[in-house]
This record gives sequence, structure tokens and C-alpha cells, in this order.
Amino acid sequence: MRLNETFARPLRQPPSDATTRNHQLLVQGAFVDQLMAGVYTYLPLGLRVLNKISDIIREEMNAIHGEELLLPLLHPSEIWRDDKGSGGWNTVDVLFKVRSRNDKPGDEHTSYALAQSEEEVIAPLFLGRVFSSNYMNHIKPPKDPWNPFVRAPYNIQWKFRDELRAKSGILRGREFLMKDMYSFHETQEDLDEFYEVVKKAYIRTFKKFGLTAKVTEASGGSFSDKISYEFEVLTDAGEDVIYYCDKCDYCVEDEIAEVNPGDKCPRCGEGKLKEAKAAEVGNVFDLGDKYPKAFDRKITRADNKQVYPVMGCYGIGISRAMGVIAEKHNDENGLVWPEAVAPFSVHLVVLREGDKSKTRYEADKLYADLEKAGVEVLYDDRNESAGVKFADADLIGIPNRLTVSRKTLDQQSAELKRRGSSKTKLVPLKDVVKHFQG
Ligand code: ATP
Ligand code: MG
Repeated sequence: MRLNETFARPLRQPPSDATTRNHQLLVQGAFVDQLMAGVYTYLPLGLRVLNKISDIIREEMNAIHGEELLLPLLHPSEIWRDDKGSGGWNTVDVLFKVRSRNDKPGDEHTSYALAQSEEEVIAPLFLGRVFSSNYMNHIKPPKDPWNPFVRAPYNIQWKFRDELRAKSGILRGREFLMKDMYSFHETQEDLDEFYEVVKKAYIRTFKKFGLTAKVTEASGGSFSDKISYEFEVLTDAGEDVIYYCDKCDYCVEDEIAEVNPGDKCPRCGEGKLKEAKAAEVGNVFDLGDKYPKAFDRKITRADNKQVYPVMGCYGIGISRAMGVIAEKHNDENGLVWPEAVAPFSVHLVVLREGDKSKTRYEADKLYADLEKAGVEVLYDDRNESAGVKFADADLIGIPNRLTVSRKTLDQQSAELKRRGSSKTKLVPLKDVVKHFQG
């Protein structure tokens, strides 16, 4: 991508109303643009980051038998109502309810809801097609080798929530990108096993984002009366308060905790509990048989008995994760993206010499060669000073800055600088492509 050709270039100033780092840097760096509180446009740079995060999630979910599909955003109100559905219509306070022109004037009835999650769609869909024991999720494959059936449908899709306070940049939106996965099991034992598989996959996933997430005990909220697990990343921009052990991996949400900061850790007995603010980037819920029951979908067990299966759901806040990565990976000059989620791998800078200069020719050629070799390059070919270009490179935070100037060409080279390091080194022009390919 050429910076000169995109309309979405970095801004000179951060937005004046931004109080969190992710909000300041993501808007100023032209990753996102705020339409209203909690609703953002993802500009070309920001969309690339969202896609990188989504692809990492896809890879990890597919590896544990996740099966991607796309669920609808517009729901018929019936699936939310008490009589035919989950009953969430009057209890889920964040549900956006949408009127239709077919609704009768003055009628309180509204026809639709916007997806805030997808249990109401996936439970009847999945269990309408998978209802015999042979085809239920078994983590330890059953003896019959023809039926090692584990399928957990998931989708990466926008969600809408009527949050009371949308704040902290893209950390809490009224519209946000989420990965939500669901699993159905004949026995609690099978669900418990899959639950552990997902927890491990989540830790791996967040590590790839450059995030250390603490597995935190929390209440199941309005979904479930069981304990759920939240994946919390320590940051002052977060809204949650957690107590964690400074020696082992014990961690609990303050709201359900029977311990206090300063207490001895109830798990290892050695560490002390510390208090911290954190942001939830994902969670896993054991939903029991609530949704299969609400939609009256039973499965036939091996002994021919009809039973309600149990269900788990597993969320990751993709746009929130992007915001948390921005909170954790920055310095006073801007963002410092971890390689795996960076919008580009190389930020190529050509220093101003006029369109027909040799410098420009060599930089253009390098850009074309890198692109041809499959290296992802952002090319700053604008007519701006070195100062502006270097400041923007720091702001945008791509891992490698590569500069071509008359000075570097005198040595048949380009200058390489890693974001976050002050050291530079010269790479011979003929070796640049090779350098980034492997
Ligand atoms: P929170 O406690 O932060 O409101 P939640 O318990 O409502 O989260 P879920 O319904 O389980 O969250 O959603 C799954 C994931 O989606 C969360 O772990 C979080 O990362 C993300 N998420 C939830 N609400 C929002 C929001 N309003 N904006 C951005 N991301 C969100
Ligand atoms: Mg919420």
C-alpha cells in the first residue's frame, strides 16, 4: 500500500477527547475513525490488523475442530421471547430491538433484534441436524473409529450491544467484532474436556497476539449459574478488577471473590494476592442445558433415551483485543505492533528527492520487488520531510522501517531500523528481499 494513494493517512494530532492510549494512537495513526461513541470505522490499516487477529483465531479454532460459518445479525424476535425462545427479550439489557414497517403503528411489538450473541440461532440450528449420540461431540473419540465426531461451529462477526457507557476507544463498543464458538455434548464430562481444550487454545491464541492473559474465575452472569472463565489482560484501561497470586496462576474477579488483596493465595498457599485492573479479551461459559431446553431440542443417547445435551460457548473480543494490544504495545512515539498482528511487515520510507531522482527510482523498485516476493509493505512515497515520515513510521508502529535515501544509495544499501530499537543497520540493496523472506 502506498501512503500517497490512500485517503486514510495519519493525523497530526490525537483526538482531543481521547483519554486512553489505544483511542489516541489508533485514531491518530489512521487505524480507526470514530463515528459516534462506541462505533468506529476500521480504516485500511485497522482492517488489516483485525484480519490478522481473525486469521490467528481461525487457525487456532480450526486446530481444535472448530468449524467456521456465518450467523445472521438480524434475528426474529420470536427466538428471544419467553414462549418460543430463550426468554432473553426482557432480561438481556443490551439487546437492541428493531421495529419493522410491518409492525402495526402504536403496537409495542417489535419484529427483530440485533445479534448480541448467537445462542438463540445456533442451538436450534445445530441440534436440528445433529441429534444422535453417534454424532455428538466426543472429545475422547468413541470406540467406533467412523465416528470421532467433534464439531464446534464458530463465527467471526459483528455484534451489537446497547452498552450504557461505550468508552476507552475500541475496548467497549456498541458494535464490535467477536469470535463466538459453541459446542454441544451428550455428557458433562465431554463438555468439561472440551472446555479445557479451548482454554489451552485461548492461551496460545493470546500469546500470538503478544498478550499474556490470566485465566480468571468469574460468575456466569445472566447466562449461567456456573463459574465461567475470563481471559484477563492487566491494563489500567480495562474495566475489570481482578485478584491474582504473585506466585501461581490463581486469579479471580473481585465481584465473586471470597478473598481479599493481601491474602495468602488459597491455591498454592505461598504467594500473596495482588489487585489489578484488567480487560477481558475472551471467555468460556458452561451454559448447561438452558438453550437446548428453551428450544426443546433433545438428542437420542446410545441407550435410546432422549436427553437435553449440555452446551458451551466461547468468545473472543477481536476488536477489543486489537485495542488491548495497542494499550500494551506502545511507547511515547506511537504503536509498536507485535509482528504477527502488525498491519504490514515493512514500512518503506523514501526521502524526498523529486519524482525523477535515482533515489525514487530505487525505492520504487524495492517496493515492487518486495511486493512481488510476498512481503507486506507500506510505502511512504509522500512528498513530506524526513521528520514527518519518521514520526509517522513510529506512530504507525510497523516492525521494520526501511529507508532509502541518497546517503544509503551511496553505499548501495537501504537503512533498516526495528521499531522499538534505536539501532540502525545498512542492508545491501541486493539482499533486502532475501532479508525479509526468511
Ligand atoms: P464485558 O464484561 O466486558 O461486558 P461480556 O461478559 O459481556 O464482556 P461476552 O458476552 O462473553 O462478554 O463477549 C465475549 C467477548 O467479547 C468478551 O470477552 C469481550 O472480549 C468482548 N466484548 C464484550 N462486550 C464488548 C463490547 N461492548 N465491546 C467490545 N468487546 C466486547
Ligand atoms: Mg457485557
